[in-house]
Amino acid sequence: MATDTAPAVLTIDLGAIVANWRALNALGMTHETAAVVKADAYGLGAAPVARALADAGCRTFFVATAGEAFSLRNTLPDATIIVLGGLFQGAEADYAAHAIVPALSSLAEIAAWTTEARRLGRPLPAIVHLDTGMSRLGLDARECDILSRNHALLDGLDLRFFMSHLVSAEVADDPLNQAQRSRFLARLARLPKRPASLANSSGMFLGPDFGFDLARPGAALYGVNPTPGRPNPMRPTVSLRARVLSVRDIPAGATAGYNATWTAARDSRIATIGVGYADGWSRAHSNAAMAYFDGHPLPLVGRVSMDLTTFDATDRPEIQPGDWLELLGPNRGVDAAAAAAGTIGYEILTALGARYDRVYSPA
Ligand SMILES: *Cc1c(COP(=O)(O)O)cnc(C)c1O
Repeated sequence: MATDTAPAVLTIDLGAIVANWRALNALGMTHETAAVVKADAYGLGAAPVARALADAGCRTFFVATAGEAFSLRNTLPDATIIVLGGLFQGAEADYAAHAIVPALSSLAEIAAWTTEARRLGRPLPAIVHLDTGMSRLGLDARECDILSRNHALLDGLDLRFFMSHLVSAEVADDPLNQAQRSRFLARLARLPKRPASLANSSGMFLGPDFGFDLARPGAALYGVNPTPGRPNPMRPTVSLRARVLSVRDIPAGATAGYNATWTAARDSRIATIGVGYADGWSRAHSNAAMAYFDGHPLPLVGRVSMDLTTFDATDRPEIQPGDWLELLGPNRGVDAAAAAAGTIGYEILTALGARYDRVYSPA
């Protein structure tokens, strides 16, 4: 619950996250809709988010790191938990003990996991990640060719599916999407027959050709628009409200904040909140973002400081210390805030700070 002294309250709507998962599922694109809950569910809290999604019927969860997987295992004893970062060296026994599924990213990882399976004398669950264009993780063309000519390299694994990842899924008409899909299909044709997974959030909106067997949405669950340039089909899931700490009148010609990057063109009233870049409220919002009071926009003026941010409240003289300004919410979505700061909604969410008072509305 919000305490009397919280400088800011972040409200996370678990019901909206579940509704977004159901809506993605209802697209009918794919056999199974998983949930990507890496980076603490994009900053919103992996444990409460995953629990709500599991209660709604989600069975497969993706995380980025081994640590995220072990911690999620405490929350979800029975779910399938897949580590996108792959099999971390030396972590084989811990993965096996906690039934964590690595997205095997190279022939070396396949070898390490099959060795562990032999050591334990039982098949170990795995998925195999193919690189079709990202050039970060996954078997490259050469490794894929070696595997194609020697399927026995997978012996000892309970191979669940093959996955790859789209470079430009949010740009619907980017020819890279079709090129990657064709490359993926060509490689799958030479590998053991298994289900396949290609689509992230935006990939789920590229049409049924991109659905394959399992989709891996993350951002869309959390309300980021998976179809940039078109209306957002997802429900917003977060609101961030900050308390006004101070209101002061300054004369025309006075400046606000570090380096005096904003000068009052008229006698002005400045409202200061206790949120700054240490809270993930990026310095890139300086002189660019907006807050809302009672539905009215207040421009952010001057530089964002570490713990404080100033707004021009001249046109809202009723604002008093203790009032709340909306930084994210119905008037200002995550995507709009991101655009003003020159970034993407993903970064706005994953940066959400540890000092906020967090309130979860139930699913
Ligand atoms: C993060 C990630 C996803 C989820 O992507 P969204 O765009 O957030 O839906 C899916 N697959 C992989 C490999 C990822 O790294």
